[in-house]
Amino acid sequence: MRKRYVIANWKMNKSHDEATKLINEILNKKAIHQLSEDKQVVIATPFIYLQEAVNQTLSTSYFSVAAQNCHQEIHGAYTGEISATQLNSIGVTHVIIGHSERRKYFLETDNVVLQKVQQALAYGLTPIICCGESLEQREDGSYQDFIQSQLENSVFQLDIKDFSKIIIAYEPIWAIGTGKTASAEQAQEVHALIRKSIHKRYDSSTANKTSILYGGSCNAKNAGILFSQKDVDGGLIGGASLVADEFAEIISTLINL
Ligand code: PEP
Repeated sequence: MRKRYVIANWKMNKSHDEATKLINEILNKKAIHQLSEDKQVVIATPFIYLQEAVNQTLSTSYFSVAAQNCHQEIHGAYTGEISATQLNSIGVTHVIIGHSERRKYFLETDNVVLQKVQQALAYGLTPIICCGESLEQREDGSYQDFIQSQLENSVFQLDIKDFSKIIIAYEPIWAIGTGKTASAEQAQEVHALIRKSIHKRYDSSTANKTSILYGGSCNAKNAGILFSQKDVDGGLIGGASLVADEFAEIISTLINL
C-alpha cells in the first residue's frame, strides 16, 4: 500500500493566535474525520508553535505535525538551531528537509540534506525530502539529470531499510509561490522518473511503496488533476495551506480520489 499525503508548509507565517485558530478550524472540517492509514495530513508549523500543534492534534488520527527543518547535529553549541531528537521529544513525527528555500538562503547542499535525513531517521522522525529544478534547468532540458543527481547525492546514499521510511516531494522551484503550477503531464513525467530511479537503485517493491508528493502552487483548483496522476501521491502545499477552507478542500480532494 502506498500512502498518500497532503502536507502543509506554513513557512514563516502566522502569529501564535492565528496558528492556533487555523489548526482548530482545520480540525473542525469534515474531511479530517475521513483520514486513514493510507490518506494522511501533516502540518509543518514554525518551530515555536510545534508543541501546541502537537497538543491540539493529539487525539486526531492520521493528522501529524512536522517541523520545517532540523539541524544535522544532535546537541551542542549550534546557537539558534533545533535537533531531530529535540523535535522527537515534544511529539513531532515528521520533518521537511532540503526545501529549495533552505538550499537557496541557507546554502544547504545535498550532503547536508543527507546528514539531516540520517539524524531524523535515527531519532524516529519521518523525513520529507524536497527536490526539484530551477526555471533555467527546466528550460535548458537538464532538469532530469539535476533531479537524479540531487537524489543520488542525498537519499540514494541510504540503505533500503532507511529509504523505505522517507517521503519525497518533487517541487520545481519555478512553481513555488509563483502561481505557475507544473502541468499534470510535467508533474507525472518527473514523478515517474523518480520512481524509476528508486527501482533502479533499490527494487520495484520499494519504488512502488515510496510516496512522492508534488509541491509548487498546488491549490484547491488544481489538486484534483495533479493528485490523480499515476505517480503523484498527494501534495506539499505552501500558500494554499494558510486558509482553512482552501486547505480543507485540498484534503477532500485527497479523500475522494
Ligand atoms: C512550498 O514551498 O513547499 C510550496 C509548495 O509553496 P507554494 O504551494 O506556495 O508554491
